[in-house]
Amino acid sequence: MSEPTADQLRRRALALFGRSLHIRTVDTGSCAVCESEIRLLSAPPYDLHRLGFFLTPAPRHADLLLVTGPAVRAMDNALLKAYEATPDPKAVVAVGACALGGIYEEDGLVHGALDRVLPIDVYIPGCPPSPLALLQGLLVAVGRLEERVAALSFDLVAEAER
Ligand code: SF4
Repeated sequence: MSEPTADQLRRRALALFGRSLHIRTVDTGSCAVCESEIRLLSAPPYDLHRLGFFLTPAPRHADLLLVTGPAVRAMDNALLKAYEATPDPKAVVAVGACALGGIYEEDGLVHGALDRVLPIDVYIPGCPPSPLALLQGLLVAVGRLEERVAALSFDLVAEAER
């Protein structure tokens, strides 16, 4: 099967939400290198915007959380608030070996893996993951959101027919 073009991906994001897909990044104690790779996504070689994806500072405007770091306990409150403020249907993407639990053990300061705090839809390994790995993970997350929107529509139709 051929790879989807940027235009096809942009159309999928638009069909899902009626607008572009917005991403809120949350750093739960990373060394900041994963964030550097995320910032590179807006640079010309990757050009995240051509896919219809934009970074937003507001979780209320976001469709997807992109989370880095080992989930330090001091960030629990901020992380959970960002999750709850992000409207459904939403996806959570864990970025980097820290968020996957590959570097830190769980102890009094860190959870060690993000999935001990939030439900995760997509895991992107790497220390740090490359921008292309991040893009691939985001595209997988779009697929998860499509499934979620389809399930929601099915539930609404079933309820209306009852
Ligand atoms: S995965 Fe690596 S690059 Fe990313 S926050 Fe952890 S140590 Fe830093």
